[in-house]
Amino acid sequence: SAEIISGKELAAQTRLEVKEAAEKLAARGVIPGLAVILVGEDPASSSYVRGKEKACREAGIHSEVDRVSVQITEQELLKKIDKLNKNENIHGILVQLPLPEHISEDKIIETISPDKDVDGFHPINIGRMMIGKESFLPCTPFGIVHMLKSKNIKLEGSHAVIIGRSNIVGKPVGQLLLNENATVTYCHSRTRNMKEITRQADILIVAVGIENFLDSTFIKKDAVVIDVGINRNTEGKLVGDVNFTDVKEKASFLTPVPGGVGPMTITMLLYNTVNSAEKSLNRKQG
Ligand code: NAD
Repeated sequence: SAEIISGKELAAQTRLEVKEAAEKLAARGVIPGLAVILVGEDPASSSYVRGKEKACREAGIHSEVDRVSVQITEQELLKKIDKLNKNENIHGILVQLPLPEHISEDKIIETISPDKDVDGFHPINIGRMMIGKESFLPCTPFGIVHMLKSKNIKLEGSHAVIIGRSNIVGKPVGQLLLNENATVTYCHSRTRNMKEITRQADILIVAVGIENFLDSTFIKKDAVVIDVGINRNTEGKLVGDVNFTDVKEKASFLTPVPGGVGPMTITMLLYNTVNSAEKSLNRKQG
């Protein structure tokens, strides 16, 4: 039966390291700062933002949340970002997605300074990641790679299959694994004969968003399975994309939901914010 990779434990440990780095920066006179803009009152978004605030507080990161009306114009939102770009006390800027229809997410993301884009969504950071240059890495993919490495799972030469090709999870996690010299295959909603492909995977990353999407017939024995999905089942409980009890018997490693990839995502946001503060201080001090 599979070893369960606890994102909760790894997140706690990583957050301690982030906190130490934040304390070192404080001793050099800089408190890392994260600014979050939350548009509207969507309950899921509000809850994510509260989680980020709490995590910042615990890690010694200054955070400020600007909660604005759903009726804010694109122009007004762009102005707020511009102000934060120039604010020396702010090292990370995050606009909680999704945004209302009348605001272009692309425009908003592209206005955030790449030097403060701690979500790693700016095309410049995506491009830098693609060509293997230093950049802010998108938090969920970054967290997944961190989890794999924490268990010394071999990436080089391994066949990693990703199900899902979104810009925030599927595509970038494949790119990061490619950067680690894995052989990467993407599957998605138009993929034919998917099981033939997924059964070849040494590492299988499932980021679809459908409860019980994946059972043990999709995997070969001893595969490593990372469940990124976050779904609510009919009882209102959080569940992943993977049939946990079934896959657990066949996989070598498996991540749970909740307590798997989720806690790592916020952790890497904290990491990116402290890293950004460090870079900004080094730029100043030469
Ligand atoms: P998305 O809806 O943007 O993408 C889903 C992907 O799944 C698409 O690329 C699509 O091609 C693929 N897909 C859909 N149906 C399929 C099918 N039948 N067969 C094969 N592929 C299919 O979602 P996303 O933003 O990438 O998120 C995916 C899941 O991960 C969601 O449940 C989301 O809530 C969760 N998520 C979790 C975290 C975290 O921190 N744990 C972060 C982001 C997203």
